[in-house]
Amino acid sequence: MPESVAIVGAGVAGAAAAIRLAERGVQVDLYEAVPEPRPVGAGLLLQPTGQHVLAAMGLLDQALALGTRVDRLFGDTPAGRTVLDMSYRRFHPEAYGLGLQRGALMGLLWGRLRELGVRWHCGAAVEGFEQDNQGVTLSRADGGTSRHAALILASGSFSKLRQGLKVRQHARLFPWGAVWTVLPAPAGFPQIELRQRFRSASQMLGLMPVGRASSADVQRGINLFWSLPVAELEDWSTRMGLDRLKQQMAGLFPDVAPLIAGLTDPAQLREARYADVWMARWHDGRVLAIGDCAHGMSPQLGQGANMALIDAHELAAEAVGDWPQVFQRYTRRRRTHLRFYGQASKGLTPMFQSHAVVAPWLRDRFFGWGGRLPYIHQQSIATLAGYKTGWLWGRLKL
Ligand SMILES: Cc1cc2nc3c(=O)[nH]c(=O)nc-3n(C[C@H](O)[C@H](O)[C@H](O)COP(=O)(O)OP(=O)(O)OC[C@H]3O[C@@H](n4cnc5c(N)ncnc54)[C@H](O)[C@@H]3O)c2cc1C
Repeated sequence: MPESVAIVGAGVAGAAAAIRLAERGVQVDLYEAVPEPRPVGAGLLLQPTGQHVLAAMGLLDQALALGTRVDRLFGDTPAGRTVLDMSYRRFHPEAYGLGLQRGALMGLLWGRLRELGVRWHCGAAVEGFEQDNQGVTLSRADGGTSRHAALILASGSFSKLRQGLKVRQHARLFPWGAVWTVLPAPAGFPQIELRQRFRSASQMLGLMPVGRASSADVQRGINLFWSLPVAELEDWSTRMGLDRLKQQMAGLFPDVAPLIAGLTDPAQLREARYADVWMARWHDGRVLAIGDCAHGMSPQLGQGANMALIDAHELAAEAVGDWPQVFQRYTRRRRTHLRFYGQASKGLTPMFQSHAVVAPWLRDRFFGWGGRLPYIHQQSIATLAGYKTGWLWGRLKL
């Protein structure tokens, strides 16, 4: 009988699952397609729920030393209408978001993997798998195969491996994506929290302090996010050029001008596409999908990495006994939480990224007003913090 569990993908979900399982004494083989993974990726807002998981791994203090505390989210229109004004403190006096570079988070997770001695196979793209009553056989792109007791797919939203699960599912590319970069805060640039500026739903600029990429860095960064339709993502630099893009950014939010002075090469801006992934359940026998591979969503609610950490934590909590039963219990445990965030993200995204007219008009009139009502504010911030499991009630217990 094979003993080790294979995890495919060493992103947030795969690395965190490998850590939590290895901590429980499970033998893990982690397969990653990239030959030399580098700590890169957009800035993340890590919610109190995700911070709880990092604390359980013993990594929160290091994450706090690298990242920046975000106490408030504020978004408005060029006409000065407040759309979002949320404060974690009004949810709980000690709650805050943690602005962190994805690379910083990955550096911490990979360091912990090494400490735990997890077998990590880089440059090992998995092409397919077959399962039977005893285990799962993986086939790799290099022609090699390996046999495992179970398989966890943490291979991201666009993973084709998911189709190997006999489960109803769909993955739809969102019609809008973004370009983003992390820029050093110029001298005299105001101390910001998470700051967004919207023009209808067709223009959105987001700024978030994200701290340092590693402990060797001295410079703290600000993540800049600019929304673009997917159809314009590939050729924006030839079609409009960097100068025009910067003019559009400064036209929407003049305060950003000193920051984007540091944006001198289109290659500094990375493209992001995201998919809405839905699965009727996340397991099929000895195979389980977690992270974006199981429930990819738009970053509008800032939950993807957070959900990936919670998946890993909850999976480890169930990891006793036969793997098919462990996976079945995991699916039951995660259902209400993940369903709520899937629906919320799907409902909210067109209000912030689309060519719609009515939805953002309603947003501009009612979001700011609604947010001043204590109950609505409390519910909105509980959603953001990653705690909600239903529209009216229900709270995640970690
Ligand atoms: C612009 C942007 C902003 C975001 N902001 C936030 C935020 O504020 N807060 C938040 O919580 N989340 C945020 N997210 C979402 C977050 O980044 C993702 O949800 C999270 O990184 C997903 O992690 P993952 O491990 O599931 O998938 P991924 O990070 O996609 O990792 C998948 C891994 O699997 C590997 N892989 C794929 N296929 C194979 C294969 N066949 N064989 C071997 N390896 C394979 C890949 O190389 C990759 O390393 C944001 C995302 C974007 C794009």
